[in-house]
Amino acid sequence: MRIDIVTLFPGMVEPAVSESILGRARARGLVDIRVVNLRDYAEGKHRVTDDYQFGGGSGMVLKPEPLFAAVDALRTPEARVALMDPRGRRFTQEVAAVLARAAHVILLAGRYEGVDERVGAGLADEVISIGDYVLTGGELPALVVTDAVTRLLPGVLGGEGAAERESFAGGLLEPPQYTRPEEFRGARVPAALLSGDHARIARWRRVQALWLTWRRRPDLLAQARLDAGDRRWIERFERGEPPSDDDGR
Ligand code: SAH
Repeated sequence: MRIDIVTLFPGMVEPAVSESILGRARARGLVDIRVVNLRDYAEGKHRVTDDYQFGGGSGMVLKPEPLFAAVDALRTPEARVALMDPRGRRFTQEVAAVLARAAHVILLAGRYEGVDERVGAGLADEVISIGDYVLTGGELPALVVTDAVTRLLPGVLGGEGAAERESFAGGLLEPPQYTRPEEFRGARVPAALLSGDHARIARWRRVQALWLTWRRRPDLLAQARLDAGDRRWIERFERGEPPSDDDGR
């Protein structure tokens, strides 16, 4: 898969895609991430990329020509173009999974007061927001999308099955995880996880995932894939009965 990130600040983006899992995935050829300087596609001696907004108002707006020129140069037949914009569709694990199936994604990072509306309307296939807050630029959002998409690509994450239990995978939050030591400052690792009994561990994890999601993100439960056993647990939570450490036995 190829991901192009078009930005006025490549120096902000390049280090983030060169480290750790993303950096390794690039080095191993599992993903081709290219950081593209928008200024390279601006015309004239001063390579101007922004201008005052019509109708007045403080702050500059990114001009359409450099963004259209950049996409014209980068486009492949399979390319999907996504503009980062707080007014866009909310980015979720589901959107990440859809993008991860594309062969080529071009991410456009805005700056200043935003981007000329004709980019969102006539150039981008989708407009993506990473949440209901306003950042100074689209670089961090483009990196969020790149990171979430890349880790879904085959071979990028080592651990088999890790992605299945993960938060949002089945519509639930991930159950608690522990590593050594077994006891830390009086807090013990739950007995089920130390039991070596795989069926019991699986049941414990399921109940904990339900419990965590019920308490913190009840909005997710409405969409989650639940069976009759899951529903019985939720009824217990609703009666005020939390799971105990040994539940799942
Ligand atoms: N004036 C705009 C905000 C501009 S922020 C408004 O009120 O809607 C400047 C740029 O940062 C945007 O063009 C966009 O590319 C990026 N950006 C800021 N917050 C974002 C968010 N939550 N999601 C995606 N992109 C965002």
